Amino acid sequence: MQTDYDVIVVGGGPAGTHTAMAIAKYSQQNLRILLIDRNPRAEYGKKTRSGWACGDAVSKKSLDYVCENLGISYSSPELEHHVDGVVVYSPDHEVKVLFDGEGYLLNRKIWPQKQLEYAEKFGVEFAFQVDAKRLLVEDGFIRGVEGINLRDGSVFRKTAKMVIDASGSASVLRIHLPIKSWIERNIDKDNDMESTGRYILEFEIGEDDPTWFDPRYCLIHLDQYLAPGGYSWTFPKGENKVNIGLGVQKKSLDRRNRMFGKDDTLRTLIDEYVRANRVIRNARLSQSPLDSGNTYATWQVPVRRQNDCMVANGYAIVGDAAWMPRPIDAGGIGPSLYASVILGRVVAEAVEANDVSEEMLWRYNKEYVDIYGYQMASFEVLRRYLQTLTNDKISYGMKYFLSQDDIEHIKRREHPKFPRVNNFLRVLFDGELRRRIREEPQLARGLQFTANKSRRLISLYKEYPESSAKFPEWHKRFMAELEEAFNRFS
Ligand SMILES: Cc1cc2nc3c(=O)[nH]c(=O)nc-3n(C[C@H](O)[C@H](O)[C@H](O)COP(=O)(O)OP(=O)(O)OC[C@H]3O[C@@H](n4cnc5c(N)ncnc54)[C@H](O)[C@@H]3O)c2cc1C
Repeated sequence: MQTDYDVIVVGGGPAGTHTAMAIAKYSQQNLRILLIDRNPRAEYGKKTRSGWACGDAVSKKSLDYVCENLGISYSSPELEHHVDGVVVYSPDHEVKVLFDGEGYLLNRKIWPQKQLEYAEKFGVEFAFQVDAKRLLVEDGFIRGVEGINLRDGSVFRKTAKMVIDASGSASVLRIHLPIKSWIERNIDKDNDMESTGRYILEFEIGEDDPTWFDPRYCLIHLDQYLAPGGYSWTFPKGENKVNIGLGVQKKSLDRRNRMFGKDDTLRTLIDEYVRANRVIRNARLSQSPLDSGNTYATWQVPVRRQNDCMVANGYAIVGDAAWMPRPIDAGGIGPSLYASVILGRVVAEAVEANDVSEEMLWRYNKEYVDIYGYQMASFEVLRRYLQTLTNDKISYGMKYFLSQDDIEHIKRREHPKFPRVNNFLRVLFDGELRRRIREEPQLARGLQFTANKSRRLISLYKEYPESSAKFPEWHKRFMAELEEAFNRFS
C-alpha cells in the first residue's frame, strides 16, 4: 500500500506526542510518523485560544511509567514544583483524605516543547498550523486526514496506513468518524462534560491555614455551592504561586443559580473561590515569562469512563478524545500517558504486520482496561452520586461513613467500599454507627449502592472481551448495570 506516512497522529497534547514517541520506540522498521497540530511550533500543544488550560498536576507514578517505557526524562523547568500528594477536603474543611502520593505541578506551556524535542529525536515528523477537518476512507479503513493549512488557507491532505486521533475532547474526527465502528461518537454533554477554568497567580501569604493553601499538597475542595456538580482546586506552584480554579457541570450550575437567585458564571465562581481563600492575599496574574499567555484559561473536560471501544479499522482514539480523564477529579494526564505507551506498542506491531484492522488493534482496548480503565465506570457512578448531594450530606458522609479502609482504597485510587454502611456485623455491634445511619438513612443507602455497583462494574470490566465479536454482548450487560445507577441518580 502506497501512503505518504505509516501513521498520522492528530493533536500535539500529551496523549498525541507520547503516542507518537511510543510508536517510534516500539517500531522495528523505522516507521514514518507524522504529527499534526493546529498550533505554531512556539505554541505547541496549546488547547484553546486562552492557553494550555490545565490544573497542571500529574502523579510521579504516571510520569515515571511513561519515562521508563520510552527512555526519556523530565525535569525543571517543565516540572515546576514537587508535591507530596493530593488532599481532598469536605465542604466544611473538617475532614481530609490524602491520596495519589508524590507528584508534580507541570509548566504546561514549557512541557510540550520538551516533548517536541524528544519526539524529533525519535524521528517523528511534524506539520504545525494544520487544522485536521476530516478523515479519509478507503475500503472501510481510515487512510489519512484532510485539513486546512492555517498559514495560507490551502488544503492539507496526507494519507497513512492508520490515523490516531489525539485531538482532545472536542474531536471532530471522532464525532464524524465515517466508518462502521463500536466507538461512541458523541458524549452526553449535559451529564458528562464539565466546564473548567483556572488562574495562575502569585500572591502574598494571608492567614496560615493549610486547608486553603499548602505548598506541599495539591488541595481539592468539594463544595456544591462554589463548584456545582464539580470541584475546586488550589494547586501550589511554589511558596507564593498557585494554579487555582474549578470545574462545574452546567446543569448543576443552572439549578444552583435558580435556587439561590444568582447569575454566576464559571468566571465569577472562580473569582469568588479565589476571594474565599484565606491564605491568598493581593493576588496578581503570574508575571513569569514562562506563563505569559497562559495565566487565565478555560476549557471543557470529559468526566465519564473512557469510550467503551477505542479502535476501528485504521483508527484509534487516545487521551481526551477517548474521554480518558478520571470521572471523579478530571485528571486526564496520567491516563493519557498510560494509554500512549500501550497504544504505541499495539500500533507499531499492527502497522508492521500490515494489519490495522479493528481486530488487530483490539488489544489496546483490552490492555488499557486491564491496566488503568477498569475502575472508571465505578468512579463515574460515584461522581453522579456525589452530584446529587448537598454540602451538608457530603461533609456528614465523609465524617461518619468513610472508614480508614476506604481512605486506603482512595489512596490507591480505588473505589471506596464503605464497610461502615455495608457490613452487617459491623453495624450490628456499633451503636454509634447505627445512630448515624438512622440519622442519614438515604445517604447510607446511597453509599451502599455505589459500593456494590462498583464491585459489579469492576468485575464486568475484568471480563472485557478479547475480540470485537464478543463486544456487543458484553456491552449490553455492562450498560444495563450502568443504566440502573444512572436512573437511580438522575
Ligand atoms: C482547566 C483544566 C484543568 C485540568 N487539570 C488537570 C490536572 O490538574 N491534572 C490532570 O491530569 N488533568 C487535568 N486536566 C485534564 C488534562 O488537561 C487533559 O486530560 C489532557 O490535556 C489531555 O491531553 P490530550 O493530549 O488528550 O488533549 P489536549 O491536551 O487537549 O491536546 C490536544 C491537542 O490537539 C490539538 N488539536 C485539537 N483539534 C485539532 C485539529 N482538528 N487539528 C489539529 N490539532 C488539533 C490541540 O490544539 C492540542 O494541541 C484539566 C483540564 C482542564 C481543562
